[in-house]
Amino acid sequence: MALEQEKVDIMGVSFDNVTLEEAVQRAVFLLDTPGEKGYVVTPNSEILYMCRKQPELFPLFNRAALVLPDGIGVIYAGKILKHPLKEKVAGIDFAAGLVEQATARGDALFLLGAKPGVAALAGEKLQGKYPGLQIVGVHDGYFQEDEPVVEEINQSGATILFVCLGAPKQEQWMKNHMDQLTHVKLMVGLGGSLDVFAGHVKRAPDFWVKSGLEWLYRLLQEPKRFGRMCKLPLFLFDVLHMRIRRK
Ligand code: UDP
Repeated sequence: MALEQEKVDIMGVSFDNVTLEEAVQRAVFLLDTPGEKGYVVTPNSEILYMCRKQPELFPLFNRAALVLPDGIGVIYAGKILKHPLKEKVAGIDFAAGLVEQATARGDALFLLGAKPGVAALAGEKLQGKYPGLQIVGVHDGYFQEDEPVVEEINQSGATILFVCLGAPKQEQWMKNHMDQLTHVKLMVGLGGSLDVFAGHVKRAPDFWVKSGLEWLYRLLQEPKRFGRMCKLPLFLFDVLHMRIRRK
């Protein structure tokens, strides 16, 4: 029996209207369903803006098994468009919830992405936090050929794969290789999460997250993201425009 999925369209991307806990439950359900496999995406407003500029990207996101709203911009957009989403589900929080479940269940995890050495360090830190977690392989995200990496993942026996290559590269990679990955049932596109798990990038403290200012904290930490973050007001402008046109 499939779990009921409420979908909410925000600017052309069909989000799953779920809480963090429900998102993790759905992932576990997929892992437990024979013959099922899929990938999870966590678009933020920057990615939605990118899709609007390059509409060929929409199917990459809409074809995912689970589409989670990562960012306050998407939540605001839902409110403006009168399609409110339950809550923001940050990729990194979803990943942590899934890792906790994977530890309890004994699922085998492979970490792919980030600069050389980062995935291994992220793996060590995760195993420190979740004793018993099975990390069966890691690989950096700067490889030239896909086949040897696919082979390594297959040899590892991993059933869960974190793909952290940045968007939309990671979504393209997951879609292209889903059928070649023999044991993997669930892939998750997680951007810079391995840098956070490794401790190279700090997550915003709770106060900033609860105030909806995680983006500002991140900008102060990584000022080079300024150009990318300018997409947030541009995106919200597009959303308002859409709302006015619909009236
Ligand atoms: N990355 C990678 N291979 C590439 C390009 C990027 O592994 O060819 C990694 C990069 O090192 C970083 C992540 O992908 O760890 C992208 O991080 P970013 O902060 O851009 O993602 P976000 O969290 O904003 O989605």
